[in-house]
Amino acid sequence: MTGTSVVIERDGLDSLVRALISDGYLVVGPTVRDSAIVLAELDSPGQLPAGWGVDVAPGRYRLRPRADGAVFSHSAGPQSWKQFLHPSRQRLWSTRPDGTYSAEADARPRYAFLGVRGCDLAAIGVLDTVLTGGAHPDPSYARRRGGAFVVAVNCTEPGGVCFCASMGTGPSVGAGYDLALTEQLGPDGHRFLVEVGSEEGARVLSRVQRREATGEEVDAARAEVESAAGRMGRQMPEVDLRDLLRRSRESPRWEEVASRCLTCANCTMVCPTCFCTTTEDVTDLTGEHAERWQRWSSCFELDFSQLHGGSVRGTGAGRYRQWMSHKLSTWYDQFGTSGCVGCGRCIAWCPVGIDITEEAARLAEDAEGSRGDVPPRAAG
Ligand code: SF4
Ligand code: SF4
Repeated sequence: MTGTSVVIERDGLDSLVRALISDGYLVVGPTVRDSAIVLAELDSPGQLPAGWGVDVAPGRYRLRPRADGAVFSHSAGPQSWKQFLHPSRQRLWSTRPDGTYSAEADARPRYAFLGVRGCDLAAIGVLDTVLTGGAHPDPSYARRRGGAFVVAVNCTEPGGVCFCASMGTGPSVGAGYDLALTEQLGPDGHRFLVEVGSEEGARVLSRVQRREATGEEVDAARAEVESAAGRMGRQMPEVDLRDLLRRSRESPRWEEVASRCLTCANCTMVCPTCFCTTTEDVTDLTGEHAERWQRWSSCFELDFSQLHGGSVRGTGAGRYRQWMSHKLSTWYDQFGTSGCVGCGRCIAWCPVGIDITEEAARLAEDAEGSRGDVPPRAAG
């Protein structure tokens, strides 16, 4: 049944959520909380953000009510699936003076992620490579990721800071989903085209009322997603970014962006692919019990690059250059892909609205002006 397309009505989405919950999945999806679309555990389909959209711009994010009841017409919120697969803080082990040592019995939630967009599905793929692709896979990530059921969503409404189309990660979802939805709103009803990507997806979907999709419905859904590609709020310059960043190491632009950057690390916290961590050891007041915790870290923190004698990236310019160069250039050297999937979160949640696409465009302009030989971006 994989590869087939069916249609479910609006209440079929609710049935899908209930089927996943009754199958024992911990369903995580979008909901409205704290004036934002956040990802949270859903106890019922009524918590989905029906009738909410967002207005997003550099340094700005606002909820906006919608009259059409759309469930997935909002672009990326402040969180990503990273926080469930690679938690911001987790205990690694604890020990006692008698030498008793216990490695953390890591929870094995059986997640069902509902509403994963193309950019974020690509980001999960990047994390898979980083955290499980090498000689020392992260066991916690592997356990959380292993049983995850993915309900992806083809994006039909990109936000003001989205640029997945120019990064090749959206608006249609790539491989790696169990089910993929395309939301369709119109005068003749509110429904979802569903594509089946796995046997488990087919099994879960068999419990939801559905009918075969017509060729016209499949074509209409495809056309809407293609149209979304032309409505992205941003795009990366069409140059070889990997080469551009390599060649921009001494650019005066780094000092200029540092004059605006607060080195607050928001961009790395919201980024769905930033994976850096540090560890902290703590004891209780009696000294009888010690624990080691892992928490997210950031290349914007001064002590992130602390080596003997001091930090090797002591300036904001150096830290911004490191972040952007890693994302767009040296990530290829390490992991074979870009570290940026074009979700736009770092632009929306930067308190001073620094925009990675604008910074790349300025570097490209400078390079073109000084040398006139910036190579075009390699295909793919
Ligand atoms: S670019 Fe923006 S979000 Fe990132 S560290 Fe600088 S001020 Fe903070
Ligand atoms: S660098 Fe910015 S746009 Fe790219 S994946 Fe990270 S948060 Fe998204």
